[in-house]
Amino acid sequence: MSHHLLHVYTGDGKGKTTTAMGLALRMLGHNQPVFIAQFMKDGKSGELHALRSFEAAYLFDSAKLRGFFGRLTPEQQEQTRQEHLESVERMKVKIEEIKPALTVLDELNVALTMRLVTMEAAISLIDCALLYGDVAVTGRYAPQALLDKADYVSKIEAVKHPFNEGIQARKGIEF
Ligand code: ATP
Ligand code: MG
Repeated sequence: MSHHLLHVYTGDGKGKTTTAMGLALRMLGHNQPVFIAQFMKDGKSGELHALRSFEAAYLFDSAKLRGFFGRLTPEQQEQTRQEHLESVERMKVKIEEIKPALTVLDELNVALTMRLVTMEAAISLIDCALLYGDVAVTGRYAPQALLDKADYVSKIEAVKHPFNEGIQARKGIEF
């Protein structure tokens, strides 16, 4: 039994990914190894460029979605799932190698909801990372099984978001 803890940041309000990346920054401030994998995204968000400059940060090149998943053919969808499964297996190999004090699995909840990653694969990845340090999982729609497994659960509520007033995503704030 490890004494490392699982964090889940979920809900429809802004602040899930930035919270997890803030934790990464905090751990890097102690010069401890941090592993970051981002599901569902293109890897271009500002914090990733910044975190890359830390020697103790490992940014994993995750499997990518090619366009809207719902518009892919069943064969392409299956291939995308296969790529995600392989990507998760490679993550475990890297985690075993670098033994991160913190692992960030950004938007894993969304990948689980879209069934790009199976719950079985996600739990196996999380358990692998928990051997070495804390794990932070983010994304809307956290499945109940993860909420049950987590030690910290923070649900961020969108009381207001300017997107609803027609304000588009802004550089340095949303990405
Ligand atoms: P952040 O990365 O700013 O911490 P987040 O991780 O909580 O946000 P996601 O659900 O991952 O938010 O959403 C991705 C993008 O949508 C981000 O650019 C985020 O700022 C923005 N966003 C977050 N909440 C809302 C909302 N309620 N309405 C519209 N856009 C949102
Ligand atoms: Mg996010």
